[in-house]
This record gives sequence, C-alpha cells and structure tokens, in this order.
Amino acid sequence: MTADEKVKVDVIVVGGGPAGLSAAYTMAKAGLEVILIERGETCGSKNVGGLLYGTILNQMIPRFYEKAPIERPVSKRTIVFLGGAEHAALTFGDDQWSIPPYNNTFIVQRSQFDRWFSGEAEKAGVSLLEGTVADELIYEGVNGERKAVGVRIRGNEEFYADAVILADGANALLTEKTSKEMNLKGGKTKQDYAVGVKEIITLGKGKIEDRFNLESNEGTAVDFLGSPFEGLIGGGFIYTAKETVSIGFAARLESVIHSGLSPNQIMDGFKRHPVVRKYLEGGELAEYSAHLIPEGGYRAVPQLAANGVMIAGDAAGLVNMSLYKEGTNHAMESGKTAGETAASAKAKGDFSSKTLGEYEAKFRRGTAMRDLKKYRDLPKVLETTPELLSLYPLKMTRMLTDYFTVTAASKSETQKKALMNFLKGLPKFKFVRNMIRGRKVL
Ligand SMILES: Cc1cc2nc3c(=O)[nH]c(=O)nc-3n(C[C@H](O)[C@H](O)[C@H](O)COP(=O)(O)OP(=O)(O)OC[C@H]3O[C@@H](n4cnc5c(N)ncnc54)[C@H](O)[C@@H]3O)c2cc1C
Repeated sequence: MTADEKVKVDVIVVGGGPAGLSAAYTMAKAGLEVILIERGETCGSKNVGGLLYGTILNQMIPRFYEKAPIERPVSKRTIVFLGGAEHAALTFGDDQWSIPPYNNTFIVQRSQFDRWFSGEAEKAGVSLLEGTVADELIYEGVNGERKAVGVRIRGNEEFYADAVILADGANALLTEKTSKEMNLKGGKTKQDYAVGVKEIITLGKGKIEDRFNLESNEGTAVDFLGSPFEGLIGGGFIYTAKETVSIGFAARLESVIHSGLSPNQIMDGFKRHPVVRKYLEGGELAEYSAHLIPEGGYRAVPQLAANGVMIAGDAAGLVNMSLYKEGTNHAMESGKTAGETAASAKAKGDFSSKTLGEYEAKFRRGTAMRDLKKYRDLPKVLETTPELLSLYPLKMTRMLTDYFTVTAASKSETQKKALMNFLKGLPKFKFVRNMIRGRKVL
C-alpha cells in the first residue's frame, strides 16, 4: 500500500461500549470522519451492565428514552439486608420516577441498548468496523515527539487518523500496551478490580409485576447486602426488565479469591437465599455473563491524554462503586468530552498532547470526577472495614427481627435483648469509627 492509498480519517475509536459510542457519535455530529472498531460481532454483544443513568445521553440525544430500547424505568429502589433466614428492607421511590424523564434511571439490556446506540452513531456518519480487534497503535516520531497516528487491526490491516480514542473497557489490553509505549502516567494508586457476574432469568411480565409490585410502566432496582456475601467486599442486585430479571453480584476480585469460592458458587448461594429464591421461582436462565469492573476510583485514574491519544470510560477506571454503581454515565461523559475535544482539535488542526490535554482538564472538572473525588476513600474503607458490608447488615437485620419477635417476655425485655444482641461482639470504639467511615459508602 502506498502512502496515498492508506485509509485515513479524523479519529479512530477503539471500543463500541458507552464511552466509545459517545465519543464517536459526538464527533460525527460535529462533522468529523470517524471509524469505530469493535471486536464483538455487534456493539454490545460482549458487554455487561445493569442500570443506565441517562443524564449525559440525554444531552447528546434529547429524550432518548422515547427511541432507545429501554426495558423499564426505575420507579422505586430497595436495599435489602440479608441474614441467614431473616431479612430487612428499605424501599423508596417517587411517582415522578415513573414519568418522563424517569429520574434519569433505566433498566436496559446492554446487548440491545449498545446496538441501538451504534445505529444512532452510524446514522450520524460513523463507520462501524464490528467483529474487528484493534491490536496496536501505529506511531510516528520518537521519544517526547512520539504521536499515535493510527491502529493496526488483527490481520495486519492499518487505519490512520489524527487521533485515536481508546475506550476498550475494563480489560483494556490496548490501553495498557499504549500507556507503556507512550510512557503515560498511572494513577496515584494502582487499579483494583471487582468481578461482576450477571444472569438474565426469564420470568414473564405477569410474575415480575406481581412479585415486585409494579405497574407495567414501572421497574425496580433491588440491592442486596449481607449473608450470601459474607467475607466478600461486595453485594448483589436484581433489576426488573420487561419479561426478564437480571440478577447478579459484584465483589472485589481479591476477596473472591480469598473466599475460595468460585463466582458460580457465590451466585448459587445468593440465589438460594429464601428471600431471593421466591423472586426467581419458575424462572429460566436465558443468559450468563461475567466481566471485570475497575474499582480503584479517583486515585487510580491515570493520565487521560497524550500526543494523538485520549482514554475514556472503564479503560480509564471511571466507575463509582458506591451504592450508586455508576459506570455507564461516567463512560459517556468521558467519551462525549473526548469527542468534543477532538472536534476542537480538528478545527485548530492540532492533535498534540497540549490540545488533547484539554480533554483531561475539562473531564477532571466535570461531574463524574467530582463524584469520584467524593468517594475517593471508598476503595480503602471497604478494604479496611469489611464489616460495613457484612457484619453490620447482619446485625441490623437481627436487631429488627429481634425487636419484633413476639414472645411472653415484656417489650422492655425484648428490646433490651435486641440491643444486647446487636452490641455483642462490637468493640464500642471501633463501631463508632466504622459508622463514621460508613458515610463514605453512601
Ligand atoms: C455485572 C455488572 C453490573 C454493572 N452495573 C452497572 C450499573 O448498574 N450502572 C452502571 O452505570 N454501570 C454498571 N456497570 C459498569 C458498566 O457496565 C461499565 O462502567 C460501562 O460498560 C463502561 O463502558 P465502556 O464503554 O467504558 O466499556 P465497555 O462497555 O466494557 O465497552 C468496551 C468495548 O470495547 C471493546 N473492545 C475491547 N478491546 C477491544 C479491542 N482491542 N478492539 C476492539 N474492541 C475492543 C469491547 O468488546 C467492548 O464492546 C456494571 C458492570 C458489570 C460487569
């Protein structure tokens, strides 16, 4: 191939998840020529997720929920504390969450949602190269002048561009390779990972609405803490789609290894808990998936831009692992910001690290990084205070069930016993300190 024959566009995006699609869509809308490379057969075919927080998508595609394959909005949420057989739950919601804009929280199936989003990107002018693995970047120049100028795909074909946006997800082999080759700075702390496992169970609309007490335009997100996850740093979830429910858990990888249990065993234990089993009875397994989730948080976010390169989404570790579990919206914010920066770089005719560095500066001032900063101590707190996710939920559940256990004893005796059982084995100082630390999980 001669230099004149090479395929060159403005920007190549690697990865067709929320980050890459947001970048590609934003750039195509701004009139840039964009290729998006996705290794899955279609965008979304390899992706796992749960809730979609839609604030950024709504900025890109106003009222997207009227067109996108939304399963149900989240009209109420429940946090369930599980003990051995006892349980306690807190349910909350608002009628406003069942009507547009649905509290910006939706249940989607990522395989369908990402495919829809890739269709919107294609309509905007993005060239999709699906079923294609990006193996490495192509560079020009040496040392400090080294600049990414394209991507070599498996099979050795080359595509050239003024810049490459890396949005290759949590298991970001290409981002890792590029960071070494371009000598990019890592975060202040190393990246940690959780393993996320999800099953889709077909239950049927009627059973879902009966069991979760929903109208047909409503959905629910149920988070679980406690006994099935004892010794693990993590918890479980059930999200209701139209005809199916997604059930799964996410737990720090090291804690899973340390537990000696396989992800399948953890999932089985979770599904066997009497509270959970009743939700799923009569359901049929339709799909199983497992995926890494970066959870190092704010301090583990690496350098995000260099000469001809920007890094977005899970590849940069932008997940908030607090109770919000927000990864998709952050991936979209970073992708959109990277796309906007590429558009202004194109207008200036300058894709150097100085111009692309504006992406990092702008993103670091945005909502996602402010949220990650708020939860910056979360990874450490969960590591040093595992009781927050296991012992305390169990104790609280026990206290509530003890409090309402009816015997011949007087109420004063019952309540005293409930309190004593709660305090048993809790060093007072540690309890107060842990409650203070616990604020950082919420
Ligand atoms: C079980 C589970 C539950 C979750 N729940 C939630 C939730 O409730 N709310 C929430 O906001 N987030 C949740 N997340 C996190 C969320 O899914 C991610 O944060 C989000 O998908 C990140 O988007 P992304 O585009 O950065 O990466 P991804 O969605 O992972 O997309 C990366 C894409 O890059 C492609 N790719 C990778 N390498 C290459 C290559 N070399 N060449 C070509 N293509 C490549 C992949 O195939 C993939 O399509 C959950 C994650 C898991 C695993």
